[in-house]
Amino acid sequence: MKIARYDEGAIGAIVDGGVRDLTSLIDQPWRDTPFAINDLIARWDELEGPAAELAAQGPERGLDEVRLLAPTPRPQHLFAAPLNYRPHVAEMVDSKHAPVALRAEHSAAGLGFFLKPSGSISGPEEPILLPPLPGRSFHHEIELAVVIGAGARGLNAATARQHIFGYVPLLDITLRTEGERQEERVMRKSYESFTPIGPYVTTADEIDDPNRLDLHLAVNGESRQKANTADLIVGVEELVATASNVLPLSPGDVYATGTPEGVGPITVGDTVTAGVEALGELRIAVEQRGW
Ligand code: MN
Repeated sequence: MKIARYDEGAIGAIVDGGVRDLTSLIDQPWRDTPFAINDLIARWDELEGPAAELAAQGPERGLDEVRLLAPTPRPQHLFAAPLNYRPHVAEMVDSKHAPVALRAEHSAAGLGFFLKPSGSISGPEEPILLPPLPGRSFHHEIELAVVIGAGARGLNAATARQHIFGYVPLLDITLRTEGERQEERVMRKSYESFTPIGPYVTTADEIDDPNRLDLHLAVNGESRQKANTADLIVGVEELVATASNVLPLSPGDVYATGTPEGVGPITVGDTVTAGVEALGELRIAVEQRGW
């Protein structure tokens, strides 16, 4: 099933080019709040059947009649993998954006995760807003994101798969600074609208192997990133398992699995199109932040 959020916070299933409202399945007090999808995911064992019955009735409205929102706007944790594709490690080590520490430690395995704030999340119909910071650049990163299902701790790679609810394309927009003196990575990736996500979450049963999906990103129609998750250094299950051994995962948590090679700058006026095989595509305008 493909699950979207739209309009004033309704939850719906994408069916036949339209949307079927699932909001009635959400418990109060979460209904119509940004936490609604976390409730749906937490109770998916009991709600999958009723959701499928509603979806089988077909769409109520066309996708062009609704405004899609970020499908997972308030994950309790938004994990992100650094440097998880070897060619991207190489391009960063060779770049003027790499601090000495990175050049020295350019083996990605075992680097763990960092966190992004949920306040940086934006939806498929919202622009990326570049803050007024002269002399800085802003880079695009297309990533496969995992949405956690039933919460758990202490998973291993073999048990992690059953705790994955679904998958969604994600952009990890990053402020880049030249040289050794860089702001903390978390801040550089935390600006409002620096985590576009969507257009919807595809449940895990529809994806045979998350470690074998094409990713692509283009700026103004020019291809910049093109890769396959088969090239992930640390695979999806191992990422989830590792995080679950640090702290308990919560239903609806999101894990951005890292970006492949080809990162580069975006500027005001650009249009970024990016997606992951079988999971849909984002088409995002880049604008100047108005404040
Ligand atoms: Mn990233």
